[in-house]
Amino acid sequence: MMTGQKSKGQGAAEGEVPQPVIPHPSSLSPSPRGLVTNIQRFSIHDGPGIRTTVFMKGCNLRCFWCHNPETLSPKVEVQWFPERCIGCGACLERCPHGCHEVVDGVHVFHRERCVACGACVETCYAQALVLVGEEQTADEVVEVVLRDRPFYETSGGGVTLSGGEPLMQPEFSRAILARCRAEGLHTAIETAAHYPWERIEEILPLVDLVMLDIKLLDSARHREATGVPNERILANARRLGRQPQPLIVRTPIVPGVNDIPEDVAAIAAFAATLPNLLYYELLPFHGMAAGKYDSLAIDYRARGLSTPSADHLEALCEVARSQGIEVRHG
Ligand code: SF4
Ligand code: SF4
Repeated sequence: MMTGQKSKGQGAAEGEVPQPVIPHPSSLSPSPRGLVTNIQRFSIHDGPGIRTTVFMKGCNLRCFWCHNPETLSPKVEVQWFPERCIGCGACLERCPHGCHEVVDGVHVFHRERCVACGACVETCYAQALVLVGEEQTADEVVEVVLRDRPFYETSGGGVTLSGGEPLMQPEFSRAILARCRAEGLHTAIETAAHYPWERIEEILPLVDLVMLDIKLLDSARHREATGVPNERILANARRLGRQPQPLIVRTPIVPGVNDIPEDVAAIAAFAATLPNLLYYELLPFHGMAAGKYDSLAIDYRARGLSTPSADHLEALCEVARSQGIEVRHG
């Protein structure tokens, strides 16, 4: 742990309920640095109450419908929005690597040469070039989070680490959570849990709520949809299900992937076996991220898919409720 103290949540005797760790501010290690894409204040969909959601950069899954493609790569990137370009030419002069060129009157961005130094972005007043991913210290992140403390206190909110995948930057994530805990804030993480259990176990004592994505129970289909098999995710889910922190299981409902009753019933039946399940939530796919894919030159395989209708979503919720668990949808 980044506090250098042994967690009360680790190594508890059999039958003993581990207590959450509340680090003293003086015990916090120097502020590590990490990459975030956004710090979204006043979030109401990432846990209870009004929250600040910290979107971490980098993910070890490749769900082809991902709503946040700017968080997939663990590196700083440049988004390119040609429709905003006013043709001033400033970026052509500024880039030391010759990434911008006008060919037959058309602005070409040679992304393969770009090292994301940000020089051209500074010159682009039209915001046709945008840097995505900012290196910050944990202290800098928490300084923003603390601005809304009064709203957390009145709404039962707090901070949520999302992404991307918070477990991909474990030291940074732990540092943010420890600092928020030291300030008395409620802490939550959104994760796909595709990491060795030890990495999850390290962060858990600093977390009040876990929101876990489970997309499919069939591993081969899971690999096809997300790029990875799901055995480790399900094993981690079973262990998360026995922790003192409440657990919300969530499934993005994506047409052609898992929008049939059989798949939802299977995930709901699995979720029903997790003793600390708070509720199961279905999140409808939407195609609003298409522009972000284009700006990053990432192939958007979900283009053309429709958002599940409210009726269909409610029907799937009913299927899930038949497992005897609380079910919500986004
Ligand atoms: S970010 Fe740097 S390397 Fe990339 S295009 Fe802009 S100036 Fe060139
Ligand atoms: S600086 Fe921006 S607006 Fe100007 S040419 Fe480059 S991309 Fe277009």
